[in-house]
Amino acid sequence: MQTRKPGNVQGIDVSRYQGTIDWAKAKTSGITFVFIKATEGQTYTDRNFVSNVKGALSAGLLVGTYHFLRATIADVAKAEAAHYAKSLEAIGGAKALQLPPVMDYENNPGNLSKAQINIVAKAFLTELERLTGIKPIIYTGNSFAANFDTGLSGYDLWVARYSNTRVPDDQSAWKTWTVWQYSDSGKVPGIAGNVDLNEYNGSLADLKKRYGRERDMSIPFEGYRLTSPFGMRKHPVSGVNKFHRGVDLVVIPADGPIYAFVAGEVIHAKLGVSGSGFGNYGVTVAIKDDKGYLHVYAHLSAAGVKVGQQVKRGQLIGKQGSTGISSGAHLHYEVRKACTPQFGYTATEAGVVEPTQYLINYFGQKPVKEEKPVTVRDINVPSEWAEAAWAEVTAIGFFDGKRPGAVITREEIAVVLSRLLKNIGV
Ligand SMILES: [Zn+2]
Repeated sequence: MQTRKPGNVQGIDVSRYQGTIDWAKAKTSGITFVFIKATEGQTYTDRNFVSNVKGALSAGLLVGTYHFLRATIADVAKAEAAHYAKSLEAIGGAKALQLPPVMDYENNPGNLSKAQINIVAKAFLTELERLTGIKPIIYTGNSFAANFDTGLSGYDLWVARYSNTRVPDDQSAWKTWTVWQYSDSGKVPGIAGNVDLNEYNGSLADLKKRYGRERDMSIPFEGYRLTSPFGMRKHPVSGVNKFHRGVDLVVIPADGPIYAFVAGEVIHAKLGVSGSGFGNYGVTVAIKDDKGYLHVYAHLSAAGVKVGQQVKRGQLIGKQGSTGISSGAHLHYEVRKACTPQFGYTATEAGVVEPTQYLINYFGQKPVKEEKPVTVRDINVPSEWAEAAWAEVTAIGFFDGKRPGAVITREEIAVVLSRLLKNIGV
């Protein structure tokens, strides 16, 4: 495989064995990325996993996580993927991080054949991708990598070989490494003892380009916890019954990133001044969309955009905070019908719309097209647009093909409705 190269970005990987890490100090060593141990087997979660992720994110590192695989059969591999995916929810899910989830498969306690190793690996990787929506990468050792067949070539390789002189060996599945763990005895400020050192095959821009994606905004408020809906409520600070003009959303960590739900032009990006239409809103970013509606992101700790700037959907616009009148760190998000006067502020509910429904309508204008009319195709073969949902639902036993064409039961409708309600935060 290829050698290391000047200009390639450097990173580390850590687990609870590194103890408490001073992440700001670690960043000063010039590292750019980190993979953090999350889980192992079907039940174990690294006790420093959440604090390490939060610390690394707030230091500005690109963060990924890994799972140490113990399974020797496919069903257990799937259960391990579920445990990993579930544990990731504590940090906002795999999509809250910049780097993909990792399968760490590096030994063979069950004395499996190569064929069995590949079955276990594929079961884990497929299930993990289904649960997280992100294609994982594979971590393994230089020798163990020889067990994997070309069916895994499509996954990026993160390979361990501790050497200054010898590069990782070519394998049937891979001729290049994406990440090389070249030392297990690195020294990094802010970390006691030894730490694994890694190099990514490219620059920071390459790394971001490979794994960065425009944030998936297809489900409104995915990754947020909705703590207060739109409408009448008892105000959390004053205790008075009052109309809530938007929705309150919480993201982890407290100063976590806030992304634009809709593209548009920034027309406000600072502390809301009393009487401006943003009094008590704290640091507020307001973005005017192409229909003239104003998207208001309030109580931020900092704005990351400037007035006049065009913002894309999914673009970072600031950090969550608790500025203005706010009961703890959260995002207050509201959608106003107009931008003037006073940034479209009205004393009554007349000037705002329900944000969830607005987003659904805003993005729901493109009707889903059937590739072929339902009457001329096999209803057990889903259209491309429905493949992911079909796979998920059939995997749990619905529409199992034993009764093609049968009417949908009320229970099945209940499941569909329940999922929809969860997605729109009702
Ligand atoms: Zn609010």
